[in-house]
Amino acid sequence: MTTPPAALLPALQELRPSRRMPVLFVGHGSPMNAVEDNVWRRAWQDLGRELLGHAQRPQLILCISAHWLTPGGWYLTGMAQPRTLHDFGGFPPVLYAQQYPAPGAPQAAQALAAALRSPATGKPLGVDEAHWGLDHGAWSILMPMFPAADIPVVQLSMDFARPPAEHYALGRQLRAWRERGVLIVGSGNVVHHLGAMRAGSGINATYTWAAEFDARVTDLVRRGELDALAGFAQWGESARQAHPTHEHFLPLLYAAGAVHPGEAPRFFNTGFQAASISMRSMAWGMEL
Ligand code: ZN
Repeated sequence: MTTPPAALLPALQELRPSRRMPVLFVGHGSPMNAVEDNVWRRAWQDLGRELLGHAQRPQLILCISAHWLTPGGWYLTGMAQPRTLHDFGGFPPVLYAQQYPAPGAPQAAQALAAALRSPATGKPLGVDEAHWGLDHGAWSILMPMFPAADIPVVQLSMDFARPPAEHYALGRQLRAWRERGVLIVGSGNVVHHLGAMRAGSGINATYTWAAEFDARVTDLVRRGELDALAGFAQWGESARQAHPTHEHFLPLLYAAGAVHPGEAPRFFNTGFQAASISMRSMAWGMEL
């Protein structure tokens, strides 16, 4: 069976009831992972193949990326054809040449925005019809996972002015949409300290504070104590070092919020890139 080009697909009109979709948190690391043949990217390719082997394919991918911060509100991308954003600097031309032409889903975005409530104000979320697109937190992982680019993608921004508990609370609201064909994908990193990167390290070579923070997250996820993740800022020195700014941790709170009690996690890409970036990723709701 061949897949028709995305442009020929009928636009997604509504999200229909479905089998419960998995939830993913993916550590994205360097933008170069989008194009380099390495262990991280191979795991994304494998996961995509496995997901498409499920009985039902996602109707929509809802991606929460560390790279779309909108202090003052939460927004969903509402354009029919989101642009591929090259929101980074200093990388080789091959990275700027990448395009991920997955369609948007304007009607689904409007429906989601109307149904979801800002944890800060209790009001519906906003829809961005012109400004954003797909940032590299989204496309660098989705391109290897779903190279056909034939599943519509909507991004959800993060109101970076609001506390972690509110991000987790919005994640809880996403849970019900898993039964409407929505594959929720958080894209960030469990540990993310760019200033401490060092070249030449193996995938498991890291700092004590990074290993500590990564282990604490792993332990909570394994035990299903997902609420406690939102308290990471109180974990002391390891948290300060792991996240000098915490935008890469927040997408995990959305994914964790969408997990049902008792759903077992599967870990993959457990290791570090450049010593200070944890690539640890998680999938819930997949056959183990
Ligand atoms: Zn990033």
